[in-house]
Amino acid sequence: MDLPKLSIAALGGTVSMQASNAGEGVIPSVSGEALLSSIPELTTLAGVTVETLGLLPSASLDFEFLLNVLSWAEFQVKQGAVGVVITQGTDTLEEAAVFLDYLWPYDTPLVLTGAMRSAAQPGADGPANLLDACRVALAHNSQQRGVQVVMNGQIHQAGSVRKTDSLALQAFSSPVVGPAGLLLEDRVRYLRPPGQRTVLPLPQQTTQKVALLEASLSADTLLLENILALDYDGLVIGGFGAGHISQRWATTIEHIAKRIPVIIATRTGSGSTARASYGFGGGEMDLIRKGASMAGFLCPRKARILLWLLLGCQRQHALAQYLNEDI
Ligand code: GLU
Repeated sequence: MDLPKLSIAALGGTVSMQASNAGEGVIPSVSGEALLSSIPELTTLAGVTVETLGLLPSASLDFEFLLNVLSWAEFQVKQGAVGVVITQGTDTLEEAAVFLDYLWPYDTPLVLTGAMRSAAQPGADGPANLLDACRVALAHNSQQRGVQVVMNGQIHQAGSVRKTDSLALQAFSSPVVGPAGLLLEDRVRYLRPPGQRTVLPLPQQTTQKVALLEASLSADTLLLENILALDYDGLVIGGFGAGHISQRWATTIEHIAKRIPVIIATRTGSGSTARASYGFGGGEMDLIRKGASMAGFLCPRKARILLWLLLGCQRQHALAQYLNEDI
C-alpha cells in the first residue's frame, strides 16, 4: 500500500538539544533524522522526508530564515506532501506560527511543534509531540486550518496560541478560545470547524523595522521620542489593560502616528483591546483619535508580525481591515 507523503524539517530548539558533556547546558545538536528515529511507528503511517534546516535556539530565528522555511515547505507540497511538520524551539513558536500562517497559501496542514524537555531528559516530550504533530499533519480533518501548533496533546491555531508558562510541560494555551483540537487515543479530534483565514502576499522587501515597546508604570518617553529619528517604519505598543497608555505617551504617539502606523495591543496576555469605552487621555478612544490602531485580540508580538508583513507588501494602509478580523 502506498503511504501518504509527509515532510518534516528540524530548525533546532529544546526538542533538538542535548549536552555535549555532563554538567554543561544543552545546545541544539540533534538532527531531524535522529529525531525521527525516536518515533519508529511513523514509518507505518507515512513515507517521510526529513531535513535539518537549522540547529538554532528559537530566539535566534529571524524572518528571513522563516521565509526560507516557508519556501521549503511550499516545495514539499508541490512534491506531493499531504502534510508538513516543523520542529523548533518553543520560545518563539507562537511568533513563527503566525508568521508562517499569514503566508501559507495551501489547504495542506503545516504543523509546528517542539518540546519543553530536552532530548536526553527523563520524560522528554519531544518524541510524543513530534508523533502527535505528524498525526495532525496527516489527518484529513486538518485541511484548511492553516498553520497549527501541536504541544502536549493539544492543537492550537497560529493566531491564538501563546506560550503562557516558561518551563511547564503544559506551556501553551489559546486564551479566550481554547485549543482548536485534541489528540485522543491517537486520533485527531477538532473542537470547532476551520475558521476564515487571511493569507498575505510574500513580502517584496525585508528591511522594514517595526519597534515593539511595552507600557509600564511611570515609564519615560525617551525611546518613544526617538522612534522616528531611528527610522522605524512601524510601532506596536503592548498597552495597559484594554489598550491604554499614559497621557505622556499618548502625546508622543499622536506625533508618531502622523508618520508611521502605530498599533496598540494589550499587555495582559488575554482578551481584546477596547474601541469605544474609555475617553481619558491615553485611553483607546483618545488613541484612535490620535491616529493609532487597536490590535483587537492580536497580542503585541503577533501585531508586530502582521505590521511587518503588511509593510513588506505595501499594504499598511489596509491595516484596519486586517485588525478587525476575528481571532
Ligand atoms: N524552552 C525553549 C525550547 O523549548 C528554549 C530554547 C528555544 O526556544 O529554542 O526550545
